[in-house]
Amino acid sequence: MAKLLECPSHGPCRAPIDECKSVELFKEFTFEAAHRLPHVPAGHKCGRLHGHSFRVAIHIQGNVDPHTGWVRDFAEIKAIFKPLYEQLDHNYLNDIPGLENPTSEVLARWIWQQLKPLLPELSRVRVHETCTSGCEYRGD
Ligand SMILES: [Zn+2]
Repeated sequence: MAKLLECPSHGPCRAPIDECKSVELFKEFTFEAAHRLPHVPAGHKCGRLHGHSFRVAIHIQGNVDPHTGWVRDFAEIKAIFKPLYEQLDHNYLNDIPGLENPTSEVLARWIWQQLKPLLPELSRVRVHETCTSGCEYRGD
């Protein structure tokens, strides 16, 4: 019988770790980008060109492989996110197709739509626009 381990997502768990279905991994990325929000009222500060140090967390949910002991290699998540990172980092978000109105909400959904076909276990995308403001998207 498999040894009981603590499930990282909800603490002590009766199931062996490789049978636990509620494990969620996350990998965080940071990038710098400029944007402006074209649909805010006249005079709103977000209508002016400005930048953020965005932080994005990619979450995936799945079963722990009994042999490797992980859901997926973090390096694979990084490799899958890399083309998006290169599109976003040090760029003007409004110029990217689909991000003409780059709010955190639109950006989180855009990232989801790009990643989901490549990362079927994707369970949520968190976008932090500032330290205290952000958006969490859990799919269409
Ligand atoms: Zn902004």
